[in-house]
Amino acid sequence: MMISEALKRIAPSRTTAMTDRATQLRAEGRDIISLSVGEPDFDTPAHVLDAARAALDAGQTRYTPVGGTAAMKQAAALHFRRDLGLDVPVSQVTVSAGGKQAIFHALMATVSHGDDVLVPSPWWVSYPEIVRFAGGNVVPILTNAAHGFRFTAGELESAITPRTQWLMLNSPGNPTGAVYPAGMLRALADVLRRHPRVLVLSDDIYAPLIYADEPHTTLAAIAPDLADRILTVSGVSKSHAMTGFRIGVATGPEWLIQAMERLQSHSSGNPCSISQAAAVAAFTGPQDFLADWRATFKARRDLVVAGVNAVPGLSCPVPDGAFYLFVDATPLMDRFKDDEALALHLLDHGVAVVAASAFGGRNGFRISFAAAEATLREALARIAAALS
Ligand code: GLU
Repeated sequence: MMISEALKRIAPSRTTAMTDRATQLRAEGRDIISLSVGEPDFDTPAHVLDAARAALDAGQTRYTPVGGTAAMKQAAALHFRRDLGLDVPVSQVTVSAGGKQAIFHALMATVSHGDDVLVPSPWWVSYPEIVRFAGGNVVPILTNAAHGFRFTAGELESAITPRTQWLMLNSPGNPTGAVYPAGMLRALADVLRRHPRVLVLSDDIYAPLIYADEPHTTLAAIAPDLADRILTVSGVSKSHAMTGFRIGVATGPEWLIQAMERLQSHSSGNPCSISQAAAVAAFTGPQDFLADWRATFKARRDLVVAGVNAVPGLSCPVPDGAFYLFVDATPLMDRFKDDEALALHLLDHGVAVVAASAFGGRNGFRISFAAAEATLREALARIAAALS
């Protein structure tokens, strides 16, 4: 096998692997509830679909500029200004095939062998793999349920060394739903001011999905003096139920945006032209449905948190954002070789979840509650039966 050294350093995505497995089992006729992937089950809004159709009918089927059409960049800038409080020119905006690609290109464009990247753990499954593929070292900042899965300014200060190049920040976070309130972000900004070499990747893809009273805030808005070393990543996948369209947006200093586009010009080229037209409609069209979606997610969250905590041996804190629960199963682990075995046991009982170890955690699993209430109730019943 002619596998590169870089590829040897990474494993396949375990969220997508479990989801593919669940899809395959269903195709074979098995009754599987998939709570493994993080994707809203709502229909993509009709006006977004109309825009995609109109783009097809208008023959928008050619290459676009690498970093997105002018309309797409303007729509992304509108989104950053209106939804995240970042007033940025289009020269500081780029568009890619999903937030994942923006993160991939940003790290590939900047990380050299031996650079350290601080990745709070539990982490989204792709952060450490992308860092390793780029040749960097993953330096975890451990968080736990007792502290709301958030690291403090003091922990950040002690994690930073002269080799630190990036800090990954994800609020609301995948897989824990942890949200950093403004006060905590201010304290983190104070630390970062003392370390001018450190770049920050702020992944705000779940920004619209916050259930606590305090509205979403992002680091670059709280600390504009640091904005020239913050890359803020967002998109339409979670906010507008557009995961398949693959549109992510990012804003940061011009040098970094240009570096990402330089790489993108040789990887995927431009993001899909039809998807861009759909994303323009998503960002510029009505946003009022989001309040309903948020309320629905909150009700589901409460249902699943109560259901999980009612199962002997399972526990999870109440997440403030996103649509994930990070479930601890430590009291049950003497029955399983590891948490992958636990996840496979649940799959045998008809529920697909992702083992905590996929996210740098242990002794548990992640549930995505982006599913209908009836589905979630059935999943909870199956989990309870499987672990009884
Ligand atoms: N971000 C989602 C998840 O964690 C989508 C799948 C993926 O790319 O990991 O489930």
